[in-house]
Amino acid sequence: MSRTVYDCIIIGGGASGLFAASMLVKLTSGKAKILIIDGNDRCGKKLALTGSGRCNLSNKNALADKYYTDAPELLDGCLKAFGSEDAVSFFENELGIVTVCDNGLYYPSTYRAQTVIDSFKFFLDESGVEMKLGSRCTKISLNNGIYEAALKDGSVCKARNLIVSAGGSAYPSTGSDGTVGLLLKGLVDSSDIVDFRPALTSLTSKMQGMKALAGIRCKGKVDLSDGSKTIDSSEGEIIFSKEGGISGICVMDISGAAVKLLDKGVKPVVTVNLTGRSEEDVMKMIETRHNRFAGRNVSSALSGMMPRVLCEFVCKTAGIDPAASIGDLGDKEISVLAKSLCAMKIPVDGFGGNDKAQVSSGGIRLSAMNQNMQYRNRKGLYITGEALDVDGRCGGFNLQWAWSSAAAAAKGVAADV
Ligand SMILES: Cc1cc2nc3c(=O)[nH]c(=O)nc-3n(C[C@H](O)[C@H](O)[C@H](O)COP(=O)(O)OP(=O)(O)OC[C@H]3O[C@@H](n4cnc5c(N)ncnc54)[C@H](O)[C@@H]3O)c2cc1C
Repeated sequence: MSRTVYDCIIIGGGASGLFAASMLVKLTSGKAKILIIDGNDRCGKKLALTGSGRCNLSNKNALADKYYTDAPELLDGCLKAFGSEDAVSFFENELGIVTVCDNGLYYPSTYRAQTVIDSFKFFLDESGVEMKLGSRCTKISLNNGIYEAALKDGSVCKARNLIVSAGGSAYPSTGSDGTVGLLLKGLVDSSDIVDFRPALTSLTSKMQGMKALAGIRCKGKVDLSDGSKTIDSSEGEIIFSKEGGISGICVMDISGAAVKLLDKGVKPVVTVNLTGRSEEDVMKMIETRHNRFAGRNVSSALSGMMPRVLCEFVCKTAGIDPAASIGDLGDKEISVLAKSLCAMKIPVDGFGGNDKAQVSSGGIRLSAMNQNMQYRNRKGLYITGEALDVDGRCGGFNLQWAWSSAAAAAKGVAADV
């Protein structure tokens, strides 16, 4: 067993672990003795995949309403204490990363996630932060005020403070496999651990004919309902998947809530506006084609508005024959068709699993933490990032949470160094 007692051990060298270490270096002017432990042989394995390798590292509008959590006020306070501008300023001024803002979404100007990982690495190496890579932590215990992290290679590392940044259950191939609850067993109350579930994932439907739509993309709006009321909504590109279902950023945004409904045995319904326009506008567009292309069949007449196969699918669900001549449609049928194009109902039966989800919900309840992300009444035990039960929408919100929660934990630890 090593004799060294670190000021802080960080379990997980992903986004929030790397940020927590960097911030702790800054806040203690390099005085804190820090060790990062990661089961992978390199840091930031998931970070490398973010934003399709471009790393959408934050969002100008990262406020609490973009996230699901059980403690929105605490989340709000944390995001306000260290928000997107603070994160961007840290990246620019401490790590030397030039950032760009595209429509409110921040990226490194290289549009390469590796730039962010390299910059963390250079900074932490130069600051004397130690790293133990390729060895997973298998157990954490607390003895006489000192945290002990037992590693797979048989070694035990000790520290006065512990930041657990071990991630959630999404994309387990990157090292975060949803076992943080097990790791913290005995240190946190089991009632504070929420099962990890996929969030930001695709949704599947057994609706007849859906698979034929595979590959079709359209810009529109999705509303998630529990059958009686709207639970969540989002807008953007909708992609029909080969599994029979829908994906795309706006679908991922509502997917976490859909998974929770399915878990409760409630069948969610997604109402999709396939046109991105109002029903009134779509009705006028159909009427124009009804007059101009009266001799064409419905799917041909509307082919300039949407792919024919999608039009045929919608016609069938609306009880209209797509092979009928559009000129023969009456006002009522035109109205029904417009309604179906703007509010097609897709019953949801399933969702993409952890291997497809970009983020997971679940983890340690945020309501069990203080404003420094220290676990209730457990001096020196901090938890950050996706290991906490906070999941945000697509667009840089989840990485911002990783940075904000890490900054809060670093502040807590720094007060003890
Ligand atoms: C494909 C993809 C694209 C994404 N794109 C974006 C994006 O553009 N913008 C955005 O905001 N978010 C994005 N996300 C989400 C974002 O990557 C995560 O929210 C973020 O990485 C969470 O950071 P974290 O540090 O909490 O966890 P992670 O980044 O998952 O890091 C956890 C680390 O802990 C290590 N670890 C786990 N258990 C142990 C253990 N027992 N012992 C030792 N080490 C352990 C793991 O190896 C891992 O390196 C994306 C996610 C995916 C999968």
